Amino acid sequence: MKRITLLGSTGSIGTQTLEVLRSNPDKFQLGAMSFGTNVDLGAKQANEFKPSVICTGDQTAADQLRGKLHYQAEILFGLDGLTEVAVSEADMLVNAVMGRVGLEPTLKAIESGIDVAIANKETLVTAGHLVTEAAEKQGVSLLPVDSEHSAIYQCLHGNVDKEVSQLILTASGGSFRDYKRSDLENVTVDQALNHPNWSMGAKITIDSASMMNKGLEVIEAKWLFNMSYDKISVIQHRESIVHSMVEYVDGSVLAHMGTPDMKVPIQYALSHPERLALQGGQRLKLWEVGKLHFEEMDYERFRLLKLAFDAGRAGGTAPTVLNAANEAAVDLFLNRKISFLDIETIVERALNDHQTSQNPPLEEIIEVDRSVRSAVLADLT
Ligand code: NDP
Ligand code: MG
Repeated sequence: MKRITLLGSTGSIGTQTLEVLRSNPDKFQLGAMSFGTNVDLGAKQANEFKPSVICTGDQTAADQLRGKLHYQAEILFGLDGLTEVAVSEADMLVNAVMGRVGLEPTLKAIESGIDVAIANKETLVTAGHLVTEAAEKQGVSLLPVDSEHSAIYQCLHGNVDKEVSQLILTASGGSFRDYKRSDLENVTVDQALNHPNWSMGAKITIDSASMMNKGLEVIEAKWLFNMSYDKISVIQHRESIVHSMVEYVDGSVLAHMGTPDMKVPIQYALSHPERLALQGGQRLKLWEVGKLHFEEMDYERFRLLKLAFDAGRAGGTAPTVLNAANEAAVDLFLNRKISFLDIETIVERALNDHQTSQNPPLEEIIEVDRSVRSAVLADLT
């Protein structure tokens, strides 16, 4: 029985993780969980899975939760609580919170020797060097949940680095893939949230529309697979059937295919190295799909992807800035304070205004993240 701590239980990845647990009660047990402010759903989940520790986003949510629980549990709240719940006794932490708030809990879990299944890509983008160094030092596994990285992980299986010539990430293109740049001037939040292939949380859906999601994934791939940016490429693939590929030095390309269903990579991260039958998932019927399309990426059209590669190559604090500016900008866009194209302007300005420093310690990462977010807000007024 694998004991799981789940951060972000009420989100898109969180609820699908619980579906995997529900289907495999003999394999997994939920020991602890966290969510933000969705108390109704959080309480329902807690009453079903009965984790012994629960963390909520704030004290109000914690107080509300107390009145809705049908059993005894320890209740924590806030960022300190999130770090504390992450080190609850467990075999694996599933990090499915949204945003860089996942960084300290991830580091603490690793320091406690707990394996981490990571969906929370902002953590790896913000401080990939700290997370991967800590994992190596402690000998803990970092298992990808993101579908592209799960695909690459599986295509790399059993092969050595020097045989790999490139990792090829596929990108669906997001909600605006058929729009020209000039069409993006007046797009709305609702249009941006209408992803053609995947149903996901709001922030990642906006990141997919802006192509920042793929930029974050490029940096995530660099850290998860210890690969130089010259050996990571992106290709547009509108059907989201090929989840990503690995090209080897002999020209062989291994691709991972499947229907767009996040339960597959979630379950694989949880059960690895075992592969479990997926309950209730759709099977891939290629004859029904018929054709698969692949297009070269247009880095002018999707400028944020280019900026992400640049920030990744600059290294040090540059990806921290990229992520912080993007998180702040997407939040403003979702709250209808800025336009869609302003996201790009804000990220570019933040990177231009920043003097990159190499190998930053955690304190510097936290300070850079904080100052970039406040500069974004200050520029708005
Ligand atoms: P959602 O927005 O759907 O869920 C986020 C979860 O985190 C919710 O449980 C939310 O709680 C909680 N949360 C948000 N902010 C905080 C905070 N400040 N403190 C504590 N908890 C918080 O996101 P997704 O599930 O879509 O994405 C989660 C992560 O996984 C992201 O990093 C994303 O990039 C990554 N990912 C997601 C994929 C997907 O298919 N959705 C695919 C690949 C990666 P509440 O809602 O209760 O407030
Ligand atoms: Mg992905």
